[in-house]
Amino acid sequence: MAKIKLMDEILANKIAAGEVVERCSSVVKELVENSIDAGSTEIKVDLLESGTKEIKVTDNGSGMEEDDALLAFSRHATSKLTSEDDLYHINTLGFRGEALASIASVSDIQLKTSTGNIGTIVHLSGGKLVNKSKGDARKGTTITVSNLFYNTPARLKHLKSLYAELAFIIEYMNKLALSHPDIRFCLSNNGNNILRTDGNNNLLKTISDIYGIDVVKKMIEVNASDDDYVIDGFISLPEVHRSSRNHMITIVNGRIVKNNDLNRVINDSYHSYKPDNRYPIVVLNIKLDPSLVDVNVHPTKMDVKFSKFEELKNLISQMIKSAIANKNLIPNVDIDMSEEVYLNEQFLSTFEEPDVSSKEPEVVPKEKPKYEDITLNLERVQEDTPYTKEVYSEDASEDNTHLKDLIKKQEETEKMPELYPVGVVHGTYIICENEKGMYLIDQHAAKERINYEIVKESLASKSVKAIPMLFPLTIELTSNEFIILKQNMDILTNMGFVIEEFGLNSLIIKMHPTWLPKNNEEEAIKKIIDLVIEKEKDFDLSKFNDLVAATMACKMSIKANDRITTEEMENLINDLRKCHNPYNCPHGRPTIIFYSNYDLEKLFKRSGFEQRN
Ligand code: ZN
Ligand code: ZN
Repeated sequence: MAKIKLMDEILANKIAAGEVVERCSSVVKELVENSIDAGSTEIKVDLLESGTKEIKVTDNGSGMEEDDALLAFSRHATSKLTSEDDLYHINTLGFRGEALASIASVSDIQLKTSTGNIGTIVHLSGGKLVNKSKGDARKGTTITVSNLFYNTPARLKHLKSLYAELAFIIEYMNKLALSHPDIRFCLSNNGNNILRTDGNNNLLKTISDIYGIDVVKKMIEVNASDDDYVIDGFISLPEVHRSSRNHMITIVNGRIVKNNDLNRVINDSYHSYKPDNRYPIVVLNIKLDPSLVDVNVHPTKMDVKFSKFEELKNLISQMIKSAIANKNLIPNVDIDMSEEVYLNEQFLSTFEEPDVSSKEPEVVPKEKPKYEDITLNLERVQEDTPYTKEVYSEDASEDNTHLKDLIKKQEETEKMPELYPVGVVHGTYIICENEKGMYLIDQHAAKERINYEIVKESLASKSVKAIPMLFPLTIELTSNEFIILKQNMDILTNMGFVIEEFGLNSLIIKMHPTWLPKNNEEEAIKKIIDLVIEKEKDFDLSKFNDLVAATMACKMSIKANDRITTEEMENLINDLRKCHNPYNCPHGRPTIIFYSNYDLEKLFKRSGFEQRN
């Protein structure tokens, strides 16, 4: 019986909404998803000129009989769905029946396919059958799409640069590889390898194929579950971050989704461990009962709707926070100055897909390199791409134990070791030592972290400690500000302020909480009042408290160039060690950097042949 059925018209129209072949990556996406649906374990994508000239997808899937091969190009054909009801319980990837027909209508297509018996070759041009013949019996399908948009010049013009087209495809293929570590993927452009995964069903190995071994060393394995959700995956240590959000990848029941709320939860879980405008590398597999998720919110946007979303968000947030909290996060000094950037990543970081739905500040994309640059890079990567030498190995099991070891090593180390101050550079950086090596502490950032945790704790605690002001402080406001403040007075009184109205549009402050910076009380109070007025529109107490704590912490901190005594250094180090997160200031900058004995020897070229003296 033919596997491909004609969907009924209503269903096809419903799904078709918004689905058009827009760019090379949408063609790749359709073809590769068909290959996955056909049960392929190997999928090879070969591009010429970023796919504008040719896109060839070869798989080892089930293949098609002659009838199906012809039917595949008719509109509304699909092997997936037959009734509207199925739409709500979609477990498979493909559900848009007319993709192949749309692609065929704007290109030249050759389809070679076989179920293992007699093969079929079909050639179409502009959607019309040109030729049909018998092919060889190799099981699987090869589709070659040439001269995309040759008959729609307007669309052709609409394509971005070759560089951008390729970047879209790489980003898509990377995500797909991460969501299917059990499938072997290959991607090439003009004969140059870009991506190659081994299909051994090891997510960490796939991450390494995409981001490189240096990133993998800094990934933490995570998992969590409750009655409805099972989550597992890998998250980067906070020191590894990117300018783009595109490296936070969530896979729901095997399907890549792009949900801005989930991304925000993931990023917020790293708050104060890294700068807020940089984003971690995260790959999370979320499994749940398909009836709890509506995947058909928007077929092209890849978004989904969860029915127990708050629960999921909490679960993810707790999982990431506790994973980070248990790590030694002191970054090792980066000795190798020529930072190796993976080709893959280079594309993705230079070409950013604008994320319109988010209000967070946009990262300005760097100038796009010209296409010539890509070719050069490709050649370079081909020459010394790590997977050919060390990462990529046919013997995956040996490789994986190596990776697992690396991760384990990280887990064993303590949170923050004991350190002994040796001196200070420029009244700014405290030099410390212990048996493992040398540490540099930024004294302002360290003190800021300590203050931040103290203030934040005081703000969160029920019992407020307040002291009277030596000279009660009067604050004059505009009438507008005065109204806002009066409406939000409880925020201030809960903090421990005792405030009274004092004539027209004025307030008098009689008592203030004890954690206000000494000798800077007046400035601090004014700042807090500003924050209340500013934040009034979308007030969130925990975010507000965080902001107050970070602002106060900075004001109370030692400035750079302030000379402190050895005793003060010791106190600072001890206080820092007691912090929940001793590694970053509240703004996400590092407080401490580590030079291991080995790093120092390497820097002075003492390791190796020469005897140490
Ligand atoms: Zn500061
Ligand atoms: Zn800071």
